[in-house]
Amino acid sequence: MRTALIAGNWKMNGSLALVEDFARTFAEARLPAVEVALMVPAPYLDAARRAFDDTPLAVGAQTLHPEAKGAFTGEVSGDMLIESGARYVLVGHSERRNLFHEDDAAVLARVRAALTVGLTPILCVGESLEEREAERTEAVVLGQVMAVFDALEPDERVRVIIAYEPVWAIGTGRTATPEQAQAVHAAIRARLGEYDATLAEDLRLLYGGSMKAANATELLTQPDIDGGLVGGASLQVDDFLAICQSAG
Ligand code: PEP
Repeated sequence: MRTALIAGNWKMNGSLALVEDFARTFAEARLPAVEVALMVPAPYLDAARRAFDDTPLAVGAQTLHPEAKGAFTGEVSGDMLIESGARYVLVGHSERRNLFHEDDAAVLARVRAALTVGLTPILCVGESLEEREAERTEAVVLGQVMAVFDALEPDERVRVIIAYEPVWAIGTGRTATPEQAQAVHAAIRARLGEYDATLAEDLRLLYGGSMKAANATELLTQPDIDGGLVGGASLQVDDFLAICQSAG
């Protein structure tokens, strides 16, 4: 039985005031059996960890550097994220792949760094619109999954969460239909089954791409969708809470 996870991704948005807002609302929220996490900008991690102490909210980061320390001005290591309260970290988000040129090797290095320090990596994968139109969705998405999973040991694979995020649906207001999302999730789960049947059964697959309160239920009730990675709607506490309440 996979427990749903709803993870918010604030990207480079939000404020300390918004952290407090979420803490107040979630301290009193009634939630189904669901895990909830917020990927806040790194400078807010410690404040979020403290503010969310009496809430069901866990804290996560949006990226990490693969090295433990060194001359990497501006970067943050996994240990620093752990010390600041993070439990999760996004890896391979399409904005990191596209804007910061992180290729599959860079994504794998970051997944490994996360696992080494005890962070749960949320590995983001997804096809562009051109790739979908060229009917290459499965090849692209499974290729991104295998670039990481082929290189991991079995006991490392079970510690990863995968988020399927079609790039054309991120921040566009254009959501994949439940059928489109389910089909890709099922293909990922089938591919994981080639590593190990238990891995395929247990590993959580999130959907991301313009998820909002109005479309969350139909996505989250698909058999292979185990939660959501929510960008824009995670900046509005009432919308995000409504999405969490649709899960589980
Ligand atoms: C994201 O950034 O991972 C995301 C899914 O964004 P949005 O919900 O705004 O499409």
